[in-house]
Amino acid sequence: MTLTSQPKVKLMGPGGSAEMAIAALEAGADSVFIGPKGWSRRPKSDELSDEEMYRVIDYGVTHNKDIRVAINVMPAPAEIPLFMRKIEQFANRGAQGVMLCDPGCIRLVRERFPDLEIHVSVTAGIFNREDIQLFRELGADIVVIPYRWGSEEIAQIRDQAGMQLEAFLFQPPKRSWICPGRCYSSSYFHITHKSDAEDKDHFIGSASRGGSCHRICRSDWQMFQGATKLDEQLFAERQNLKASPELLLWELPSYLQLGVSRLKIPGRERSIDLVVTIVSFYRRVLDHILAGHDDLQPFEADWQALKLRWNTEKRKRDSNLINLALVG
Ligand code: SF4
Repeated sequence: MTLTSQPKVKLMGPGGSAEMAIAALEAGADSVFIGPKGWSRRPKSDELSDEEMYRVIDYGVTHNKDIRVAINVMPAPAEIPLFMRKIEQFANRGAQGVMLCDPGCIRLVRERFPDLEIHVSVTAGIFNREDIQLFRELGADIVVIPYRWGSEEIAQIRDQAGMQLEAFLFQPPKRSWICPGRCYSSSYFHITHKSDAEDKDHFIGSASRGGSCHRICRSDWQMFQGATKLDEQLFAERQNLKASPELLLWELPSYLQLGVSRLKIPGRERSIDLVVTIVSFYRRVLDHILAGHDDLQPFEADWQALKLRWNTEKRKRDSNLINLALVG
């Protein structure tokens, strides 16, 4: 098997801080994604100030690396001018693409910035081929494949997508009922509001409006109507609300053969050390496959160890977020 005739596949790492972004690029990522504070669906600890954004973009320009800006919240009418100014300032500095979720804003950004690549963020809630077609008509260039989709779904949409395909380096979870980007459950638990110095609204607890999700789906929750606990049977399958995805290995060759051109490592909230280890691992695996090798067995032990570290950090992080939602 050889995949070397395909356009260059980009490995994209997370930038939860300027240090993490630069470390990921030095570890072998071709690209990183970073988010400005209040605009990218993460707690502010995993978002960057404008000065930090510039530092990463400048690094990208100097080292010929590709910087993508996640700005995937839904701006209120009064916030549109600020949203566009943010995009303009990062694009002018040298960012090559933006990750967006709001359909109207995608069209607006396409009109004003014809050279900027637009990713349809997974939080746009793509559900089928028709959704992809709509975003293509609005002017998007790259669609992020929902991570509950696998090779079968990618094969079904790739010829009609008319856009570059970007996939998470996640195994598709077996079942999952909640579509990313369409869940507002955190807002019911912990919502506070503040405006920043630029008049951007931050609703802590609402990722879509500039705060962060609190991973409520991970909690061991029960439901009450008044003081009455609702029948357990009603919620017997609650563990399927949102299955927790695992880092992938075996699916990678088929993703490349199907034409996926961007491979995304999430984890802006992980430690820099873990991100560097994951990026260098996937760099090795990708180079191995692109060199025409399809035996991934030699990578299995490292992959298992990585999954363990990933899940340990994830559990700790989720539990902190849930506690924050419950205690405020
Ligand atoms: S609560 Fe769970 S399903 Fe909802 S946005 Fe957060 S992680 Fe996604």
